[in-house]
Amino acid sequence: MEATLSLIEGLRCRECGRKYPAEALHVCEFCFGPLEVVYDYEQIASRISRESISMGPTTIWRYKELLPVDDESPVDLGAGFTPLIRAERLGNELGLSDLWIKDDTRNPTGSFKDRVVSVALTKARQLGFKVAACASTGNLANSVAAHAARAGLESYVFIPSNLEQAKIVTTAVYGGHLVAVNGNYDDVNRLCAELASEELTWAFVNLNVRPYYAEGSKTLAFEVAEQLGWIAPDHVVVPIASGSQLTKIQKGFSELAKVGLLDGDPNVRISGAQAKGCAPVANAFASGADHIRPVKPDTIAKSLAIGNPADGEYALEAVRSSGGAIESVTDDEIIEGIKLLASTEGVFAETAGGVTIACLAKLAASNVIKSDEKVVAFVTGHGLKTVEALAPTSGPTITIEATLEAFEKAIANEKRG
Ligand SMILES: *Cc1c(COP(=O)(O)O)cnc(C)c1O
Ligand SMILES: [Zn+2]
Repeated sequence: MEATLSLIEGLRCRECGRKYPAEALHVCEFCFGPLEVVYDYEQIASRISRESISMGPTTIWRYKELLPVDDESPVDLGAGFTPLIRAERLGNELGLSDLWIKDDTRNPTGSFKDRVVSVALTKARQLGFKVAACASTGNLANSVAAHAARAGLESYVFIPSNLEQAKIVTTAVYGGHLVAVNGNYDDVNRLCAELASEELTWAFVNLNVRPYYAEGSKTLAFEVAEQLGWIAPDHVVVPIASGSQLTKIQKGFSELAKVGLLDGDPNVRISGAQAKGCAPVANAFASGADHIRPVKPDTIAKSLAIGNPADGEYALEAVRSSGGAIESVTDDEIIEGIKLLASTEGVFAETAGGVTIACLAKLAASNVIKSDEKVVAFVTGHGLKTVEALAPTSGPTITIEATLEAFEKAIANEKRG
């Protein structure tokens, strides 16, 4: 057997470039910049091919050489390799001739977070942690609780107490500790940051193992490229909470080019999507600012409600340098977006997906997205998680007594309008 040489060189500060070992570290000791995983791309290129990938599992682990773990047995519920849907009917509505939807509602716990958590807990287990913890706006909570259960790790999940009922139930069912905090996500996150400096034996997926966690989002780019026949799209539309997913999608395309797997140009135009009720990154984009001014979130898109986004400035830079834009939409537009996607493509997204689709519509209308660009919109969470948001405007179109006569009368009325 081939001797396993690590494909990971270590961690590096994104600001000053200082190097660190691949341990549970996330902030640079010198400049407080965030740390990022560094790989040996030459080694990876010699180990990976389109063919080897095609023979791998139909999960994110088909790209394991480009993920920050050497472990043979990942913590795996089957995240990833979700459908890339050719969205002809939605495209017709929006005037886009080559539109695709990456349907990440189809993950084990119904959101893209399963990608990042599968990677984070695999790494956490390898580093010897026995407890998985996180601060969450909901989807991360679902995913950490589920993956911890699978891995036999204890879990501590912290959420804002006003979260959607569905997200509370679908976290609690996995049996870990679920701590509801009276406050918003930024309060919860601050509490977790304080805890993380005391509970040194806990792996906080979005704190001390964040560099590994974040890498999981690259698999969105890997899959899209593979599903398009090993090319990158022209333009992608990505929802922004902390901004991590957006920056890692860009990194994913560029890595595929580095290891020789991509045909053509890896420089995808990247546009971001936020809710107006929590739009710190969209605001900075609109005003031309380089820094993000934190906001207090007030939106139905709770999974995107991070008022002080950790990777906001990197996301801003990724969008600007790629030639994209960042849009924001109202709660009503979010609901419209959910309904438009469901009624044209049969895909039921949560509020974050409504944000993506409504922003996609605006970007198309303002010609930021050109009508013939190959566009991929990332729909990142399942609609059953946020049914409350739709309940007031979604119900039976007709209610009748159980007779043929009643039905025919109601239908005739409906046709008359
Ligand atoms: C967390 C989340 C995002 C965005 O994640 P970031 O990497 O923090 O920007 C997008 N969509 C859904 C459904 C999420 O739960
Ligand atoms: Zn530094």
